[in-house]
Amino acid sequence: MAGLWSGLLFRIAKHWIAGETYEHAIARAKQSNGHEVHGIINLLGEETTSREEAAAATSEYAEILKVLHARKVQACISIKPTQLGLSIHKSLFKKNLSKILSDAKSLGNSVWMDMEGSQYTADTVDSYLEFLKKFDNLGVAIQAYMKRSEDDVTRILESGGVIRLCKGAYNESSEIVYKRKKKINENFSNLMRMMFERGRGFAIATHDENLIEEATRLSNIHHADFEFEMLMGIRDKKKLELAHRGYRVSEYIPFGKSWWAYSVRRIREHKSNIFLLARSLLGG
Ligand SMILES: Cc1cc2nc3c(=O)[nH]c(=O)nc-3n(C[C@H](O)[C@H](O)[C@H](O)COP(=O)(O)OP(=O)(O)OC[C@H]3O[C@@H](n4cnc5c(N)ncnc54)[C@H](O)[C@@H]3O)c2cc1C
Repeated sequence: MAGLWSGLLFRIAKHWIAGETYEHAIARAKQSNGHEVHGIINLLGEETTSREEAAAATSEYAEILKVLHARKVQACISIKPTQLGLSIHKSLFKKNLSKILSDAKSLGNSVWMDMEGSQYTADTVDSYLEFLKKFDNLGVAIQAYMKRSEDDVTRILESGGVIRLCKGAYNESSEIVYKRKKKINENFSNLMRMMFERGRGFAIATHDENLIEEATRLSNIHHADFEFEMLMGIRDKKKLELAHRGYRVSEYIPFGKSWWAYSVRRIREHKSNIFLLARSLLGG
């Protein structure tokens, strides 16, 4: 019975994830490349509790980087700090990320650091700023719902860092995040303006029509080096439209067996996905 449920739920999760192996993710990235959209490959998995799992994720990313290079796929990777060991020990995370960054650098590729729940924000931003002194091929996600983000954006821009601005996907307390959509969007606009005015390279990661069009207007004024980023399975037509309008666009492509937590975040942020889930359960 458990197998039946997980099979049904996997059918809905397949809407947002490429499959269980990196070959699925690379195939999706190649398909996107055919439409002038780059890939950002993410091995699903977070809150790793064993050193062996963190080492396995590190090796898998190293392998992916090699395959992307050998097959000339236009794609980079995106890691989660706790997948590489941040929830075990900061030094373990740094050792693993260092290996990935060196591999990526030698292959002419780059790495994004996803931002996770608020208990990891300070360590993630501090580690990012530390890595930036040694590596120029690393960017970090910043969440517009976090009240501390204006300070983080200021620090990162002053250090010449690369930011991926997103709204934020975790369930956090109102003491530290803005809860109302209007306020989150206002903060997103404010941080986005700071990036257009002062950033050297950055990403606008949203599917929100108003914010995307606001970014295109800012880009006419500031001529900044930036790209749009969206998740696999969400607003696919908009990705193509932006690419045809001449903007650089990347698609975040998750793959792997640990698809549950990621899928729950996608369902939570857009209630119509519950209908997708229901339809899938009814066999539609
Ligand atoms: C490339 C990329 C990387 C990200 N990295 C991180 C990260 O590191 N840390 C983090 O906390 N969050 C991350 N996120 C997730 C982000 O924080 C939001 O949770 C998510 O993008 C939804 O917010 P939105 O900006 O699209 O705006 P919303 O206001 O949620 O949505 C705007 C519109 O987009 C469409 N849409 C949005 N989500 C969905 C969905 N699930 N299904 C169907 N339609 C949808 C709908 O048309 C909706 O009206 C990332 C997002 C992207 C695109």
